[in-house]
Amino acid sequence: MTVVSVLPEVQAFLDRHHGLYIDGTWTPSNGRERLSVFNPATGSVIGSVADATVEDIDRAVASARGSFLKRTWRDMSPAARERVLLRLADLVERDAEFLAQLETLEQGQSITLSRILESGGAQSWIRYVAGLSTKITGQTFDVSIPLPLEARYTAYTRKEPIGVVAGIIPWNFPLLIGVWKVLPALAAGCSVIAKPSETTPLTMLRFAELATEAGVPDGVFNVVTGLGSLAGERLVRHHNVTKVSFTGSTPTGKRIAEHCASRLARVSLELGGKNPAIVLADADPSRVISGLTMAGFMNQGQICAACSRVYVEAPLFDTVAAGLQNALSDMSIGPGMDDAAFINPVVSAAHQMKVQGFLDSASEAGAEMVWGPQAPDPHGFYVRPALVINPDDAVPLTRDEVFGPVMTLTRVASAEEALARANDTPFGLASSLWTRSVDAAMRLPPRMDAGTVWVNSHVMIDPNMPFGGMKESGIGRDFGTGWLDAFTETKSICIQH
Ligand code: NAD
Repeated sequence: MTVVSVLPEVQAFLDRHHGLYIDGTWTPSNGRERLSVFNPATGSVIGSVADATVEDIDRAVASARGSFLKRTWRDMSPAARERVLLRLADLVERDAEFLAQLETLEQGQSITLSRILESGGAQSWIRYVAGLSTKITGQTFDVSIPLPLEARYTAYTRKEPIGVVAGIIPWNFPLLIGVWKVLPALAAGCSVIAKPSETTPLTMLRFAELATEAGVPDGVFNVVTGLGSLAGERLVRHHNVTKVSFTGSTPTGKRIAEHCASRLARVSLELGGKNPAIVLADADPSRVISGLTMAGFMNQGQICAACSRVYVEAPLFDTVAAGLQNALSDMSIGPGMDDAAFINPVVSAAHQMKVQGFLDSASEAGAEMVWGPQAPDPHGFYVRPALVINPDDAVPLTRDEVFGPVMTLTRVASAEEALARANDTPFGLASSLWTRSVDAAMRLPPRMDAGTVWVNSHVMIDPNMPFGGMKESGIGRDFGTGWLDAFTETKSICIQH
């Protein structure tokens, strides 16, 4: 066990009386309520943030709108905008350990994961998106408008920043997903209000300071902390918010979509999943076992694309079941700041209860459970990792998104049966196929209902590979060279000459 010591500057940040980040500076909330931030490893309070009121949200929107109308950021040359965003990536690199520790302390995840995926991933994604600032293009058109006689026309399109964007962020990777919600909007020239989850608000607050230090003009990037039911609702219903970029649960996504529809605000939704893996009899078992252990249990399964259902063709079933069982019994469990612990607490007491509820009801229904290590600290928000063998397809644990360290393992007679059961879900975010057959690798992915299908891998993402959901897993795609399209409007300009 190697427990990482908290940096003094991280402790100083935790001890601050955080306000809201509006107009490039800290401003107090006009309300008096505070939201506590907990360390999931101990269950103790490590800080607090402002609980934004309706008036606070209105001020943040006014600041973003004011900066958009002033045009400083959107009219900056694309190369200058790119330079500012690249500088922001450099500042995240400079403060990588600070941000990784802050993330682990508020979210609970392994410090190793925080270093690689949060502060490390944030740098990669910021640099990728920064580069898109200088790749925004339109088209020119030869048109055949017949009137007036003899007139000639030239038409072209411009991609213009959409306006004020609300970026609403979940708690599972607060910094990295925060970057996904904020950066494409900034790269396109929009002004942004970010609202992190009330459970994990701290890294976005620090990120806001870094954005100002990098040279993002005041008002272009604001961060408000507060409850989804109040601050979040006010943001998505605000008439001056032109676009909502949301990552979170499917029920919240549906509610936001309804609000946006009522005023035709643009909306992108990255939502939940119930992501299957199909393991064919010819797959390499050691690759399957190590790949699915990561895909199902990394960050305690609190990954939208995590593998939660595994369908294995009968001849390989016992081997895969035994391998995953061994992996489970070998897992070390402990606080995220212990860099040797693979399983850490889940994010909150409420989420711990929710996941435990799914496990208890499956267990009471007679499901065969294989358990991993016990929680080391009764005060931390730990959930004992579990493998559920051959559960009924109708039980909630098999159908609903659990978002915890739990994986179901089901024996199937054929690839066709696996495919039918894998697709029998309202979700369609991600899935994987495990096989050594080139033929199967070509034939099956097009028939799998998911925005991403991995072959012989699962949960591996890249900024250049579009990511998003089919069915109830969302609308729109993040990442890739077309990412900024969702943050721009196409304007046709037609010149008679
Ligand atoms: P959540 O839906 O409870 O909350 C997400 C955010 O929405 C929070 O900031 C919350 O305060 C805010 N919010 C809540 N109610 C709101 C409302 N009525 N109006 C506006 N904002 C509101 O989700 P969560 O529990 O924080 O995150 C976990 C979920 O996120 C899981 O379902 C997971 O699958 C999903 N997720 C999806 C992706 C993806 O890319 N598809 C990535 C990560 C997480």
